[in-house]
Amino acid sequence: MNKKILIRLSGIVILVFTCCVPVRVAIAREENLQKRIRFMMDTYVTIYAGGPEETASRAMDLAFDRMQEIDTKFNILNPKSPLYAFNHKGVPISDEEILNVVRVALEISQKSDGAFDITVCPLIKLWGFYGDSPHLPREKQIKDCLRKIDYRYIVIRNGEVQTIKENTNIDLGAIAKGYAVSEAVKVLKEEGVTSALIDAGGDVYALGRKNSKMWKVGVRSPRGEDLLGYLEVEDLAVMGSGDYERFFMKDGKRYHHIFNPKTGYPAEGLSGVTVICPDIMMADAWATALFVVAPKKGLAIVEEIPGMETLMVTVSGEILYSSGLKNALKVVPKAK
Ligand code: AMP
Ligand code: MG
Repeated sequence: MNKKILIRLSGIVILVFTCCVPVRVAIAREENLQKRIRFMMDTYVTIYAGGPEETASRAMDLAFDRMQEIDTKFNILNPKSPLYAFNHKGVPISDEEILNVVRVALEISQKSDGAFDITVCPLIKLWGFYGDSPHLPREKQIKDCLRKIDYRYIVIRNGEVQTIKENTNIDLGAIAKGYAVSEAVKVLKEEGVTSALIDAGGDVYALGRKNSKMWKVGVRSPRGEDLLGYLEVEDLAVMGSGDYERFFMKDGKRYHHIFNPKTGYPAEGLSGVTVICPDIMMADAWATALFVVAPKKGLAIVEEIPGMETLMVTVSGEILYSSGLKNALKVVPKAK
């Protein structure tokens, strides 16, 4: 069990919810934390930072600016982004930041046996998840689309991201938020902040401690607004992926935005995955990857990665834990 993680689950979910979330806000006032919110990366990002007011304030502004810079650069819909030129004209990417993120993404693709695949871009487009009205495509369209998808079409050669197959498109949406948060943490540290919490729409990194105590981070239930429990963490990311983030219902079936690159359909089996790990980008990417691989195989992969833990919720509501979390958890009795 990682010493820095301590999970507490309350017997009554609503009790945890009502005492956990307001506690965090109340603490922000009581313990002299500064708080700032900005909308970016399609979500509200909140930073809480401790220390002298001026230092914290400046650090948060700079951290947000850095995140905004990354959001703009990694946005595939931005015509000025190197990703746009790559996707539309096949121009190789030499931008070092994007190259490094792609390198990590390709490693995770390999380790997850292709479950994580940044070339899923055409599938997301076909299913309409870049717009406001996602819909179920025809089977033939999905089959045709699958021919364009394989992370092995992407190579890093001569200091560039290149493709060995024409018209291969990439989308770094499953990993860019983690990268942005990790860069924001870097800025906060450089500016002298030793205690902070970044909450990017439920994806969280806790820097240091909140005074002498660990930060409390709620883990949301994939169904409904209640919490499964909360984690007490220090210098750790808690990142989630789930079928509740972007989805539509058709004939009683839920279709969401995380795709199985082998079938062309949304991944099945899980409704939510939370990954806890000191490396923020890894936590983000693996949360998406684990959502696609079968739960048993996913747990086996996590056991092999030092410092990483996971909590997965299946579509039937069962909660699965990696071994580092298992012993610290009490099962929440089902509400009657
Ligand atoms: P996240 O919220 O971090 O799980 O990322 C979800 C986003 O990742 C989606 O909106 C897609 O842009 C992208 N995505 C979907 N399926 C995959 C996949 N199998 N591998 C990598 N990225 C994916
Ligand atoms: Mg992710």
